[in-house]
Amino acid sequence: MAQAKKAVSKTSKKQVSRSAPRAIPKTFQNYIGGKWIPSESGEMFENINPANTGDVIGRFPLSTSEDINAAVNAAQEAFDRWRKTPAPKRAELLFRLGEILIRNKDQYTADMTREMGKVLKEAGGDVQEAIDCTYYTAGEGRRLHGYTAPAEMRDKFAMCVRQPVGLCGLITPWNFPMAIPSWKLIPALVCGNTVVIKPAEDTPLSSYNLVKACEEAGIPPGVVNLVTGFGETVGAALTNHPALRLISFTGSTDTGRIVASACAERNAICSLEMGGKNAIIIMDDADIDLAIEGAIWGAFGTSGQRCTASSRLVVHKKVYRQFVSKMVEHTKALRVGNGADPRVDVGPVINADAVDKVIGYIDIGRNEDGATLSCGGKRLTRGDYANGFFIEPTVFSDATPDMRISQEEIFGPVTTIIPANSIEDAIQIANGVRYGLSAAIYTQNVNRAFQAMNELYTGIFYVNASTIGAEVHLPFGGTKATGNGHREAGTQVLDIFSEWKSVYVDFSGKLQRAQIDQLESAQ
Ligand code: NAD
Repeated sequence: MAQAKKAVSKTSKKQVSRSAPRAIPKTFQNYIGGKWIPSESGEMFENINPANTGDVIGRFPLSTSEDINAAVNAAQEAFDRWRKTPAPKRAELLFRLGEILIRNKDQYTADMTREMGKVLKEAGGDVQEAIDCTYYTAGEGRRLHGYTAPAEMRDKFAMCVRQPVGLCGLITPWNFPMAIPSWKLIPALVCGNTVVIKPAEDTPLSSYNLVKACEEAGIPPGVVNLVTGFGETVGAALTNHPALRLISFTGSTDTGRIVASACAERNAICSLEMGGKNAIIIMDDADIDLAIEGAIWGAFGTSGQRCTASSRLVVHKKVYRQFVSKMVEHTKALRVGNGADPRVDVGPVINADAVDKVIGYIDIGRNEDGATLSCGGKRLTRGDYANGFFIEPTVFSDATPDMRISQEEIFGPVTTIIPANSIEDAIQIANGVRYGLSAAIYTQNVNRAFQAMNELYTGIFYVNASTIGAEVHLPFGGTKATGNGHREAGTQVLDIFSEWKSVYVDFSGKLQRAQIDQLESAQ
């Protein structure tokens, strides 16, 4: 269960950090009603660099439900004024926010690599995604289109408009620490909602940076509130708060289920973005070198800690041996290390708990499942690796589709190669998991590409590209255990953060009854 996992994770992180030499870390605060204030509990937790656990990035408030109550009250107070601020004016503040994000991109990037571990280039991409999302979505301030429709009766006008849903709780994971909060925050704001953000406990600094930029952009007090702390306490308090009309959650499928149940209980809107077990299909006519590049990038980018990671490679038997041998060769060439070093390809995993989980799955793959461990498989602990959470990029081959390493989300630098006999077989294997986020095919055959596009039951699909690399102006999300039918990004995200109001204007000056009088009035 996610609850137990996080509790263990936090304890072990603190234990590690106490045994290492350290400078006095900076103290951060919650942002409530336009003020930076400590938690009501007065307690703090530490944000630690996963590449060097002696490096404590900062101490953040270990908040309680009291802090959530205060933040929700602030969001409530600000709501009426914000929703009545014309959308183009709201958007002007968001464009200003975009400028601030651009100005500080390098600092935010360095902060992110330090707190999350991903290499600088990818952290820069994460910040850029927040910038792209801000500009793209702020543009909606001058659109937020509704529509008109013909009415059934004469002298009657019918139209639909969007209105804000109200107060929103945003719960985010650590793997995209600025992009994912921005994907929720910016559309929520442009639609006229006020929010309380609860970032992942492993990466609060990137959300702090985003919220600080909101303050600088002049977004009014109470519109954006930030409360840091653990999921089981403040995340749960947010999810259960009766004044929040909507919870937007991204994280594991296990936690998402808890959030969804709590929202169902109190009839709140709930949008969920959850886990993945994404497959690349490599056909016998594929450009193998291109496929290898895509597979390496998709499997080991962000140390495999992406919801869209290419954690399964389904390879046609005719090119199987060739593919496995090239994949192993390229995987062994990857440089593991501190993401702040520009020569590094693969950074650490997020925390001690993630190390245990990933190494546990490697043991399962080797022993219980009986797949071939083709390379990697070990935690790195010597020299520069001694104080971090480093794991060798790992490839399993000769796996079958039903093995646990082929089915379960490992969320680390591990990928599993599964042989397939045909395109039909490959599609069946790719579809044969509980998740449905992203899929890809490498082929030179346009018919096969479209067949796969048509039959793979995922929210995202790529041809001759890896399973990762979404762009902000297209909808993002998944099927089955990955989501609950919503899509973030694109204009589709507006359907999460606004509710439709149908408006009828009868200018006939008489009573006209829909369904009853329509034939009469049509004469
Ligand atoms: P997680 O579920 O452990 O935590 C996510 C967030 O939920 C954190 O802020 C956490 O504090 C909070 N939380 C934990 N318990 C809670 C509770 N009981 N009530 C309310 N909130 C609670 O996930 P994680 O480890 O941070 O992130 C990794 C997971 O996120 C992976 O499964 C990954 O696939 C998924 N993810 C999905 C997407 C997507 O768009 N589909 C994107 C990124 C990550």
